Amino acid sequence: MTHPSPSGASEQTEVDVVVVGAGFGGLYALYRLRELGLSVLGIEAASGVGGVWYHNRYPGARVDVDSVDYCYYFSPELYREWRWSERYAGQPELMRYLDHVADRFALRRHILFDSRMIRAQWSPGARRYQVETSSGQRLTCRFLVMATGQLSAPRRPDFPGLDRFRGEWVQTSRWPERPVALAGRRIGVVGTGSTGVQAVPVLAAQASQLHVFQRSPNYSVPAQNGPLDASLWRAIGARVPEERRELFAHPAASHLPRPRGPAADFSEAQRAQILEEQWALGGHGMGFVFSDQTVSRQTNDIVAGFVRSKIREIVADPATAEKLCPYDHPIGTRRLCIDTGYYESFNRENVTLVDVRESPIERITETGIQTASGHHELDLIVFALGFHAFTGALDGANIRNEAGQQPSDLWRRGPRTLLGLMTAGFPNLFLPTGPGSPSVLANMSVQNEYHVDWIAGCLGHMARHGFDTVEPTAKAQDDWTAHVAEVSRDILRRNVQNYMVHVNEDDGTRIFMPYVGGMDRYVRQADAIAAAGYRGFRFGRAGERGSAPAG
Ligand code: NAP
Repeated sequence: MTHPSPSGASEQTEVDVVVVGAGFGGLYALYRLRELGLSVLGIEAASGVGGVWYHNRYPGARVDVDSVDYCYYFSPELYREWRWSERYAGQPELMRYLDHVADRFALRRHILFDSRMIRAQWSPGARRYQVETSSGQRLTCRFLVMATGQLSAPRRPDFPGLDRFRGEWVQTSRWPERPVALAGRRIGVVGTGSTGVQAVPVLAAQASQLHVFQRSPNYSVPAQNGPLDASLWRAIGARVPEERRELFAHPAASHLPRPRGPAADFSEAQRAQILEEQWALGGHGMGFVFSDQTVSRQTNDIVAGFVRSKIREIVADPATAEKLCPYDHPIGTRRLCIDTGYYESFNRENVTLVDVRESPIERITETGIQTASGHHELDLIVFALGFHAFTGALDGANIRNEAGQQPSDLWRRGPRTLLGLMTAGFPNLFLPTGPGSPSVLANMSVQNEYHVDWIAGCLGHMARHGFDTVEPTAKAQDDWTAHVAEVSRDILRRNVQNYMVHVNEDDGTRIFMPYVGGMDRYVRQADAIAAAGYRGFRFGRAGERGSAPAG
C-alpha cells in the first residue's frame, strides 16, 4: 500500500527535526515534536507506516506483549476508541492501528515514504545535519531523531548456493507484500528465535512437509492468547494518564506481575504451583517468576527444569522432545519465546525437526538444503535469522559527525551513550530506545513514548535558553556506561551468546548493551537528570563553541 505525502513533504529543504522511521517511536515523535511548534519531517524506507510491523508480515506474526500494554498511552481518547480483538494483536491488526494513528493525528503529510536516509552529515558551522535520501532529496535539519528501532536491520542469509536454489526463498523480516503460496508445499524454516517459533505452527498447518532447522533450542512458553479481556481494557481506559505513569514506574513498562520473592522463600510444592499458574497465565512472566531467577543459577534451574518438563509432556516423540529442550543456557538469558502451539507442531506427521548444531547446513542446493547428515528437498525456504541488533539500522543510515565518524566507529568496544539517548561527539542526534536504555528489555511502545517525551522536554529547555546544540559530556557518558555495566555485572545472561551482548574480539570482554536495571529505575534517573537542567549534557549557542555542561 502506498501512501503519498499529500502536502508535499518532499519539497521541504529545511526543517527543525528529521525523524527517521515511521513505526511506534517515529509516529509519536512526529506528533509530539509538531505539538511543540517545531517543523518535522519523517523519512521512511517503506511505502507505509508501521516500522517493524510493516516488514514482519510473516505468517503468525503477532506481538508477544499484551496489547493493552503494547499501544499508545499519550491520548486517553485514542486508547478508548481502539479496542483490540485479542490479548495479543496480530500483525494485520497492528498495522490497522498504526494506520489509524497516522490518520487520526494527520501525520502522513509529514512523511517521505519510499525514501531511505543514506547520509546525515553534521555541519558545525551551520549547526545542522545535511541529510540525503535514496530518492534524491537533500535537506537540512537542526535535530535528528533515529526512530529506526533496535531490531530492524535483518541478518541476510549468506549460505553458499542460495543463488542457485530453484525454489522460492523469503525472509520473515522482509516478508513480501504479495501472497506467498504455502499450501501443499515442502517448506523449510531456518531459525528458531521468537520469529521462527511464531511462524512454525502456522506454516505447519499449510505445508505438505515442514522442516524446522534448529541450531539452538530456545525456551518457549505459551502466549495463552484469546479474546481481549474487555474488563481489563476498560479499567485501564478509565485512567490512562495514571496508568501511563505506572507503566513508566514498572521494571518492564507493562502490567506483567512483578517477581515473587526468592525461590528459597517457597516450599517445593508451592514453587510447583506458582510455575503451573505462570504457565497457565502465559507470556513473559516466566522470565522472572522468582526475584533471584536472573542471578541465581540454582533458582533458574528450577524454572528451566519446569519448562523442559512441559516440552517433554507436549512433544510425543522423546527424541524430538530432547532436541527441543535447551540445556546450554539458563532460562531468560536469551529472549524468552512466546508461542501458540509451537511444541505441539512437532506432533504433526508433516513436521520434522532438523538439528543443525549436530549436522550443520553445508549449502543450499538447487532443490533444497544440504546438511552434514542429509539432503532436504524444499519448494520454499523461510529464513528467520534475526537482526543486526542495536547498530544495524544506525550504520545503514550513515550518520557522520564533524570528524566523519559514525556512532559505531566510536563503539568498537561496545556502545557508549548517556541514558541510551545520545552519544558524545554527535550533537543533536537522539536515539530513542538506544543501547544503554532498557531498550529490548522493556515494552517498546511505552518506552518510546517516555523517550520522545524526554526529548521534547530537552528541546523545550533548549528553546527557553536559546541553546541550539546538545550532546553528552564525555564524563557523564563514561559514568552512565559504567553504571550500565555495573547493573549487569551479576546477571546470568551476560555470559550467554545472545544479541544483547557485545563481545570484544581482542580480549573476550562482554558488554551487556541494554540497561538491565529496570524501566522504573531508569526513569527515575532520566527524570532527575532533566530536573537538574539536563545534568551531564553540554549545550551550545550560535557563536559559542562548547559551552559549559549543564548542572
Ligand atoms: P533471533 O532471536 O536472533 O533468532 C534468530 C534465529 O536464527 C536463531 O534461532 C539462530 O540460531 C538462527 N540462525 C541464525 N543464523 C543461523 C545459521 N547460519 N544457521 C542456522 N540458524 C541460524 O531473531 P528473531 O527470532 O527474529 O527474534 C529477534 C527479536 O525480535 C526477538 O528477540 C524479539 O525481541 C523480537 N521479536 C518480537 C516478536 C513479537 O513481539 N511478536 C516477534 C518476533 C521477534 P542461534 O540461536 O543458534 O544463533
